[in-house]
Amino acid sequence: MFSFDHDLHLHLYGCIPAKMLWQIASAKKNIDWHFFETEFEKQFAIRPNMNELVQEPSEKNFIRFCELYTVGEPVTFAQFQAKFNLIIAIMELSNLSEVTDVVQQVCHTHFQQGLQHAEYRMLFPPWIEESLMSQLLHTICEQLHSFEQKTNHRFQGRLSCGLPRTDHGTIHYELLRHAMSTFPVVAQMITSVDFCFIEEGFPPKNQRSLFQRILNDNQKKPQQALAILYHVGESFEDKSLESAIRWVHESAEIGAHRLGHAIALGSPPQHYLGKTYSESVEERLDQIAYDLSHKDGLQAAGVQIHAEMLLTEQRQLQEKKRAEKTQKTYDSFQLDQILLRQNYVMQYLRDHNVCIESCPTSNLCIGRIESIEHPLHRFIEANLPVVIASDDPGIFDTTLQQEAEWVAQHITGSEDTLHALAQNAKKFRSEIISGRCA
Ligand SMILES: [Zn+2]
Repeated sequence: MFSFDHDLHLHLYGCIPAKMLWQIASAKKNIDWHFFETEFEKQFAIRPNMNELVQEPSEKNFIRFCELYTVGEPVTFAQFQAKFNLIIAIMELSNLSEVTDVVQQVCHTHFQQGLQHAEYRMLFPPWIEESLMSQLLHTICEQLHSFEQKTNHRFQGRLSCGLPRTDHGTIHYELLRHAMSTFPVVAQMITSVDFCFIEEGFPPKNQRSLFQRILNDNQKKPQQALAILYHVGESFEDKSLESAIRWVHESAEIGAHRLGHAIALGSPPQHYLGKTYSESVEERLDQIAYDLSHKDGLQAAGVQIHAEMLLTEQRQLQEKKRAEKTQKTYDSFQLDQILLRQNYVMQYLRDHNVCIESCPTSNLCIGRIESIEHPLHRFIEANLPVVIASDDPGIFDTTLQQEAEWVAQHITGSEDTLHALAQNAKKFRSEIISGRCA
């Protein structure tokens, strides 16, 4: 079996194995479980009694804890988040020695598994104090650096600073750049920024000016360039598949270097036959504007674009409230057209060398798709730049090697495919695609 040694899509805290989280929780006395229990109950209709569970560290309770924490079956994004909240409840960001232990243990686990390079993402809460965020960036980077020294550079861990999709994104970006100019180790170990967490309600168009600013800063200081990583097309319950595909395209157009998941781009459209979706007037208006501006390219890809009809629909929608929702059901013709739209955007990603990070287990669970419908099939058929990664291996109870084994079992042309995927992970490292190592 081919050996995979670069994982480019990992969330640092999502790497914490159940056992480690359980031990940390059991050693603490005053964990506030209220938020976790309440959100868990909202999503799963069961209210766990965490105090009772953690106070008696029996095997039975540990098994129950694992059930609450890990994801082994299809879940919605909100249900996934409800499980991730367990990490948020137990871990204290202000406890720097705890953060130190997490980095050391996670790196150690990955090094033992045979990884040579891992890019860890960390999103800080929007309300975090400036000084704490700066301390955390410094601590994590110092720990990554010291672990690399310990392994004599055989393991490189790099950090991707998460930026909130809200207005706080700019504030956190400024804090990040400040930390990079204050601490050389931060400038060295942080090689990218990442946008994750809930997508719905945060269209890529809102990030245009921040992306431009990052790209301009990269040009000014290439030795501190940051790749832009963007989770998109992973969860799209508030819009049509056409719109979700457009979001993938727009993220790449405005400058993202790597796209997380992009399930909407590679899911077989016929899976959605007969399903009902709703989207806002604003979303539909954005889609019409996109169809009109991409008319030639879409038509060349075989998509039928009737400009007159779109303009009439646009005029009618402009009379309505932007937030108003419309409901529709997918039919076969629409889904055939969607397939062509996917091809059109895939062509764009191929031409512009924009890489997709595909996380098999995570997509099967959060994307709620069958193995046969996994977007990776289409991405590989279309010869896209794609890497495989493990996302939150602690929560999904997986390893990069297990993800590769899934590919070997389910994707045709496996030996060559696996070789290409392993090579891509080396080629699309953040410091390369940002231009830092040009
Ligand atoms: Zn992710």
